[in-house]
Amino acid sequence: MNLRDKLLLAQVPLALALLVVGLLAVNTLDRVGRAGQDILADNYRSVLAMQRIIEHLERLDSAALFIVSGEQRRGVEQADAHFQPLELELRLQEGNITEPGETEATQELRRAWIRYRADYDAFVGLGAADARRGAYFETLSPAFRTAKAATQAILALNQDAMVRKSDALQRQSRRVNTLMVTAVVVALVGGLLASASLTHRALRPVAVLSQAVQRLGRGDLDTRAVVEGRDEIAGLARDFNSMAEALRQYRRSSLGELLQAQAASQAAIDSLPDPVVVFGVDGGVLNVNRSAEEVLRLSLEGAGGSLGQVTPEGRSVLERVRAHVLGGKGPYLPRGYEEAVRVEGPDGDRWLLPRGSPVYGEAGGVAGATVLLQDVTRLRRFDELKNDLVATVAHEFRTPLTSLRMAIHLCAEEVAGPISEKQADLLFAAREDCERLQGIVDDLLDLSKLQAGRIVLEVRRVSTESVLEDALAPHRAAADTGNVRLMAEPAPDGVEVAADPERLQLVLSNLVANAVRHTGPGGDVVVRARAEGERVRFEVADTGVGIAPEHQSRIFEKFYRVPGENTGGAGLGLSIAQEIVQAHGGEMGLTSQPGQGSTFWFTLPQAAARPG
Ligand code: ADP
Repeated sequence: MNLRDKLLLAQVPLALALLVVGLLAVNTLDRVGRAGQDILADNYRSVLAMQRIIEHLERLDSAALFIVSGEQRRGVEQADAHFQPLELELRLQEGNITEPGETEATQELRRAWIRYRADYDAFVGLGAADARRGAYFETLSPAFRTAKAATQAILALNQDAMVRKSDALQRQSRRVNTLMVTAVVVALVGGLLASASLTHRALRPVAVLSQAVQRLGRGDLDTRAVVEGRDEIAGLARDFNSMAEALRQYRRSSLGELLQAQAASQAAIDSLPDPVVVFGVDGGVLNVNRSAEEVLRLSLEGAGGSLGQVTPEGRSVLERVRAHVLGGKGPYLPRGYEEAVRVEGPDGDRWLLPRGSPVYGEAGGVAGATVLLQDVTRLRRFDELKNDLVATVAHEFRTPLTSLRMAIHLCAEEVAGPISEKQADLLFAAREDCERLQGIVDDLLDLSKLQAGRIVLEVRRVSTESVLEDALAPHRAAADTGNVRLMAEPAPDGVEVAADPERLQLVLSNLVANAVRHTGPGGDVVVRARAEGERVRFEVADTGVGIAPEHQSRIFEKFYRVPGENTGGAGLGLSIAQEIVQAHGGEMGLTSQPGQGSTFWFTLPQAAARPG
């Protein structure tokens, strides 16, 4: 049976109840109507007949009185007009006996009527007027009263019966009323209950299906809707079950693929020798590789997403890179090996260089960050080794170089005897090279001391105005020769910087020398200083050849020179300058456009305002 038939069937009890009530009502109305009709047929007809008989008797009596008073013709005519109708009414009554005692009363009337009729005929047959009057008063008038009394008795009998029956009818109608109301209530309640129960049974599968849908919605893919039958809901339940099965299969296969992919990517990051930490968008740790677990002692289970277990150095570098990447500043690339942090590991200290890259979400926004700590311990050892070697060599060069220079100098000055002009030229060239070599050796020793932190800075308040002028002075001659304009723009309001004046002088001098050297005739070199928050920013800007982007990142490296340029330097000036700036707690960098010039900048702490 389909759902529509079931719902129609559920309405049947209600319809049946209505039908029963309707039939009951029709039947009851019929019975009440028939009872009324009975009263009409049984009694009202008799009452009418009796009233007419009394009327006829009265007329017959008045006709007799006409005859007594001498109006013979009128009396006889009137009497003749009433005999027949009275007889008809009497017969009608005789055919309508309905009440107990009515038979006897009717027979009584018949007898009285026969007697009255006989007496009337005898009365009319008398010739003399006196005889008629006598007969009237002696026989006819008593017979009239007897007949009238008999008629009235029947009338009373029927009227009483009418009153009685009407009372009974009223009582019955009240009973019927009560019965009808009860029947309607019972039928309606019964019908409604039966219909509701049938409707509930017909719709129960819908509830079963709805619960199954809710369970599926909560993720229970094993749920099924058990609905028997062949109706539409059973069909829907079958479709639902196949959908749930398909979903479960899909979940299984996609879960399997997902697990496989996750295992593969975990194996991939585990295979990396360097620690890798993956952060979520909220900054919590999402994943770490084996190396991170070993080196940083950061386990995913124990950490609960925080960096609490990592050593302070490791934590600070991870937090710095994480903040950079999650802050939407793009990938984080280290500027050099000096950014490497030392982390105490199970097998000795390690130097780790951080790199960070964003993980982009589906919407294109940053959904996380991957931080890789590249292990540069070996490279750093090599660097240290190289520095030590260079420092040792420079140190060992210094004394022989000094005696060599001294010897050449003495020879060139002819202290050890006269020399030819040619010999003098050779000795002067040798002395120049010796001085250049001495400069390089000094630079190298300076650099190694700076890098080893062995140089003690004598920090004082230095006015930017004086320092800029002092830095430009030694280069004016070279600038004039090369037709380059040199300009100083000190910071206004007498800003002072907290620095070692000699070292600061060296930094600026190196930068100005480079700028003059790389700027063609007619070009400008500007040295300026300005306050920037709690720091002072120095800039040396030229309109010279500029530096190609690929060299900009390496220009501060030791011994690095732009290929193809031979300016006589050893590529140490910028390294020394940067070491000095960093030793002051400052930063250094450059912006440059090939063919348009370069601007080298660095920042140093501003001297605190003088009290008062
Ligand atoms: P050097 O002492 O050999 O000049 P530096 O460390 O001072 O070494 O400079 C490194 C390299 O940077 C130089 O070889 C030069 O090519 C380049 N350089 C430095 N300053 C400038 C500048 N202002 N304009 C163009 N190139 C520059």
